[in-house]
Amino acid sequence: MSGNYLEKILRGEKTIESRFSRIACPPYKAVAPGDVVLFKHSGGTVRAKAEVLSVVYYAGLTPDRVANIVADHSGGLALEPDFIQTKAEARYATLIFLHRVELVSPLSFPKRDRRGWVVLADTQVPLASFDQSKTNRRRRYTGSKLKPWSRTTPDHVNPESPEGVFRELRTNEWRRSWWDRELDERSLRQLHRATESVLLERIRKRLTSAVGGASPYRDGMQTPYTGNVIYYAQHALALCCRKCIADWYGLPRDRELTPDELELFTALVAAFIQDRRKGIVSRLTH
Ligand SMILES: [Zn+2]
Repeated sequence: MSGNYLEKILRGEKTIESRFSRIACPPYKAVAPGDVVLFKHSGGTVRAKAEVLSVVYYAGLTPDRVANIVADHSGGLALEPDFIQTKAEARYATLIFLHRVELVSPLSFPKRDRRGWVVLADTQVPLASFDQSKTNRRRRYTGSKLKPWSRTTPDHVNPESPEGVFRELRTNEWRRSWWDRELDERSLRQLHRATESVLLERIRKRLTSAVGGASPYRDGMQTPYTGNVIYYAQHALALCCRKCIADWYGLPRDRELTPDELELFTALVAAFIQDRRKGIVSRLTH
């Protein structure tokens, strides 16, 4: 990236990184909230990092729509005047809303391609700021009767580590799509109106009734696609049915989930919803 843009990002004058392209190539459909983006001078060393607050993708663009997007976000994009001429032919666009921009001490980073930036594996997915820490603390001090996932089942994700779960599940394109897809009206309302304690209670109830029991009736059919933001989380996190839970978390289908397991899964769903909330707030304010 040209030094000029990098300096603007570091000064907070540029808050949106964009990529316009004629074909659907990364970062199109390849970035998600919580990803960490490293910035470097073209051909140089990494100078800054930022966290992705939200992402908006566009497809089927025309020169007019490109111009509109650039005009709508001119403040955050802080583009050079000649930018539009060079991108009028673009069909796809990705807008990456940045926050927590930090200068990093110059370090060399293997340059993989001609892009001026690299998205790191999403190792820094923000955790829910509510209850997650409480849950962790409580478990740490009361002694865990939980399944030691990391030791016995290396092939499965460990719900004690939301970052790990998010990272692994987002390697699956279908799971990942639940982070990006538009919420339906009812889910949006729920996202805006429910207080955190109400939401946590709803998550607990929903998980208990949908996947809490042993071998649920019509397992695999119990979680709709719309109407509740918790359903989105369940699909994103493979908590939709006992078959998916068995595949991803390694828990047998023929027994009830324990209260501790349900509590961990509740925290995961809450973390997902927190993530989606941040995306929406940013979309509304930009
Ligand atoms: Zn399922």
